Amino acid sequence: MHDVVIAGAGPVGLFLACELGLAGCSVLVLEREPEPRSPWRSFPLGLRGLSGGSVEAFHRRGLLDPLLTASGVDNVPGTDEPAPPRSVGHFAGTPLDPAGVDLAALPYRLPGPALDGIMTSLEAVETVLARRAAELGVEIRWGAEVSAVTEDDEAVVVRAGEHGYAARWLVGCDGGRSTVRRLAGFGFAGTEPQLTGYVALATLADPEKLRPGFTVTATGMYVTMPEPGHFGVLDFDGGAYDRSRPPTREHLQTVLRRVSGTDVTLTDVRLASSFTDRAMQATTYRRGRVLLAGDAAHIHSPLGGQGLNLGLGDALNLGWKLAATVRGHAPDGLLDTYPAERLPVGAQVLDWSRAQVAVMRPDPHSRAIRAVVRDLLATADGTTYVFRRTSGTSIRYDLGGEHPMAGHNAPDFRLADGTRLGELMRDGRGVVLDFGGRLRDVALRHGSRIRYASGPARADLGVGAVLVRPDGIVAWAGEPDPEAFGKAVTRWF
Ligand SMILES: Cc1cc2nc3c(=O)[nH]c(=O)nc-3n(C[C@H](O)[C@H](O)[C@H](O)COP(=O)(O)OP(=O)(O)OC[C@H]3O[C@@H](n4cnc5c(N)ncnc54)[C@H](O)[C@@H]3O)c2cc1C
Repeated sequence: MHDVVIAGAGPVGLFLACELGLAGCSVLVLEREPEPRSPWRSFPLGLRGLSGGSVEAFHRRGLLDPLLTASGVDNVPGTDEPAPPRSVGHFAGTPLDPAGVDLAALPYRLPGPALDGIMTSLEAVETVLARRAAELGVEIRWGAEVSAVTEDDEAVVVRAGEHGYAARWLVGCDGGRSTVRRLAGFGFAGTEPQLTGYVALATLADPEKLRPGFTVTATGMYVTMPEPGHFGVLDFDGGAYDRSRPPTREHLQTVLRRVSGTDVTLTDVRLASSFTDRAMQATTYRRGRVLLAGDAAHIHSPLGGQGLNLGLGDALNLGWKLAATVRGHAPDGLLDTYPAERLPVGAQVLDWSRAQVAVMRPDPHSRAIRAVVRDLLATADGTTYVFRRTSGTSIRYDLGGEHPMAGHNAPDFRLADGTRLGELMRDGRGVVLDFGGRLRDVALRHGSRIRYASGPARADLGVGAVLVRPDGIVAWAGEPDPEAFGKAVTRWF
């Protein structure tokens, strides 16, 4: 029997598999596709934006360099100087100027090698994670489609093809149409679509008729990517298009002409698919021995590039908690903090995508709101607000505790000897940074589960010590009071 079976070898399933493997769990990943390669996952159609928070998660597991290499991104050496982000992204097609971000409004952001988001591809992310998973002893079965799930008090049995696999836990990371979600009886609730979106790789006879980047028009929105012939288009048809088949060249051309207000001609369509802005979320992420993460737990439009980041955040939050539960040292209720913490974050992302759709709708009221929003976004507060949402720096779990840093992603503290917090987190344990060296005895009592590091910090942001969970969240921060610190350790470890 495996400790955990994961359905789906997408980025979220693989990230979770690595987290569990790192903690010594036996993990089997069942993937429906016969092989990893697909044109939908490689560049250009597999192009995805990773936020600074996601990039930092790779940094903290020692996977940043392989990720940058696989993504074709130059490594940027870490700096000690606060610097604006390289990109903020866009809101409803309005691009934002990174120079407008007010760094003083981001008190828990310290300079480091993983501050900024990057453009990558699903293939690059999955290649790096699959390689790491193999090193950690994770088994991946390709061509294994999960089709039935039964559960009792002791185990879950998962059927894929002719085979049945028993495990203590099953995690559905099997995407937006999740079979695990359906078979295990999860509720899935939200809002129906207003639009149909298309992405395509095509040959255009007259590409100069389309504008570069995002263009919001009177009837929808289109975006042209740097790769010739790679475009997306949003059609506010109430989600009426029949998505059971790939869109034809004729249909795509009709929609693109109507939305762009041009007579652009598509001579050939190599690949095309459609999506909607249907925004739904599982009503809980855990039912008994079955859990959900990633698109299996929430779907929404790809506007603003949030789904992958949200899913990786789920995997990071769940991995160490499930591992501690499997290995029998989890404090009471630890696993249930996964849905408690991640459901609200998912709900916020769904609303963020709904807000963008509402602003882009081609009607006079939305057009009026769009003008107001554009003016607000041009201010430093507006740009900073969007950056906090798209980078994940606005996320703060309600962990109680007095210090405002508790519940936030930990800044990449750097000790006087140059060691960064991110480097101390590679083995997946929690970390205590004790800048004054007064918590050593308490910390060392929990030595196998938390790593202790002491010494002055180059910038300590006014705290004497910080306890960081394995997912990088500050569990406790404050003056080095052994009693308060000890309570925090016992609560999480
Ligand atoms: C056009 C587009 C652009 C996007 N851009 C961005 C972006 O820039 N940034 C961002 O953060 N997000 C973006 N997203 C969203 C992002 O791609 C998804 O949120 C992300 O891929 C979800 O990962 P996942 O692992 O949860 O699911 P998936 O990537 O869907 O992986 C699920 C895996 O499960 C497998 N599977 C399915 N059913 C079964 C079964 N029954 N048994 C076994 N295996 C099964 C599938 O084959 C697949 O490999 C974009 C999405 C689209 C469509």
